[in-house]
Amino acid sequence: MKLIIDIISSMEVLIAPNNKLRAQTKPVTKVTDALKNTIGEMIKLTKTFIDPEGVGLASTQVGLDGKYFVAKLKNGSFKAFFNPKILSFSKKQKKMFEGCLSIPNYWGEIFRPIAVTVSYMDLNGNQVKERLTGLEAHIFQHEVDHLSGKLFMDLVMEQQGKLYKVVGKDRAGADVFEAVPL
Ligand SMILES: [Zn+2]
Repeated sequence: MKLIIDIISSMEVLIAPNNKLRAQTKPVTKVTDALKNTIGEMIKLTKTFIDPEGVGLASTQVGLDGKYFVAKLKNGSFKAFFNPKILSFSKKQKKMFEGCLSIPNYWGEIFRPIAVTVSYMDLNGNQVKERLTGLEAHIFQHEVDHLSGKLFMDLVMEQQGKLYKVVGKDRAGADVFEAVPL
């Protein structure tokens, strides 16, 4: 059992650039016990990120290639989403300040739809269709991008948005940013 424990605890977030972050993922046919364990480890790992807070983690970010991610919900709990799809986007968009655990210390300004209608399979294998708004909609879009090898940096470039790097903390402990020329 020691070996298994070592393998599980060695899960870590891959940092860009890394080809695995660009991988295309494969649909999940069944949520096996092994996959449930992986989800548990991913949630545990995400919660270790406090500043900035980890609110979502995709399979590709831990070197796996299944189509799933975990994300924090409005109620504070974490949930797994398998074979997630965005069925429709709201017309209304909002400028988001977006970061990624795989691209530490960088933040980009990106326009994203404020609401999405999505489908996915939950941990019990049920097919769910729902409309997400606010932070949940934002995280869902970011994580779905990961599952096709897309990073927020790509969107910053596409939209010619602003990119910032954290260069330190001020006396109050808040991040100090510097614009990065693209
Ligand atoms: Zn990310």
